[in-house]
Amino acid sequence: MRLLSILLLVFVSTPLTAAEPLKGLIITGGCCHDYETQKRIIAEGISQRVNIVWDVVHEGGSERDHKVSTYSDPDWATKYDVIVHNECFGGVADPEFIKSITQAHFKGVPGIFIHCSLHSYRAAEAGADPWRELIGVTSRSHEKHHPIKVRRLDVKHPVLKDFPKEWELSMAELYKIEHVWDNCTPLAVAYGEDTKQDHFVAWVNKFGNARVFGTSLGHHNETMNSDVWLGLVSRGVLWVTGKLGEDGEPVEGYAGTGIKPIELPGLKPIPNPKTSQKSAAAR
Ligand SMILES: [Zn+2]
Repeated sequence: MRLLSILLLVFVSTPLTAAEPLKGLIITGGCCHDYETQKRIIAEGISQRVNIVWDVVHEGGSERDHKVSTYSDPDWATKYDVIVHNECFGGVADPEFIKSITQAHFKGVPGIFIHCSLHSYRAAEAGADPWRELIGVTSRSHEKHHPIKVRRLDVKHPVLKDFPKEWELSMAELYKIEHVWDNCTPLAVAYGEDTKQDHFVAWVNKFGNARVFGTSLGHHNETMNSDVWLGLVSRGVLWVTGKLGEDGEPVEGYAGTGIKPIELPGLKPIPNPKTSQKSAAAR
């Protein structure tokens, strides 16, 4: 009996082998943002929360009209479990090029869309509509920089686990949302001082066979390097890849390396008030 107990104990306490990590691709570069720093925050911050390894394509300097070379390969997305788009190429006006991106997702490769990716390819005008349908919303401009208060919508979705009811940002560049496509489910919203109306800031979407998560927040590095933002986007990554449980936690084998501050020069990480209160209460 004692031997059985010992055996059981050993069995129960042996850690389960981690699953094969997800393979992610970050596409970044272009106008108006500090993509050197942002690619580091995204890769490190998500890996702390998700079992994932990354390839990063950073091209185009600060140009608006660069065409990322990766997309010219028809199979550019097939070896990845998820693509994170954090690019800013609003001057690209080539509908065929845009189609080479959207078709890869339509076949089923999940996508994450951050901030200026929403405004990319807008010089193609209506030719950018497949890109907007893929993302889930249409946005072509933004408000002036203001503090904003993000409100969580009354939607039951595991991506919203740990997302605060209200999240105040001392500075943000709020994108004006002109249209929400049919398969898009908004998750959070913020009021815009300039337009005097609400604009969705986070959502999930379905495009062909692909799941999509998007957020218009992410102009400032400070926004990204916060536990609220990284937690939200990480749960987005888990959800689009089918690795997020209904309880908002990673399914077995897909938790990350563990959350710790990403120290960057002049940039202090911002904890999530909701989860830090919870852990303080637990202590
Ligand atoms: Zn911006």
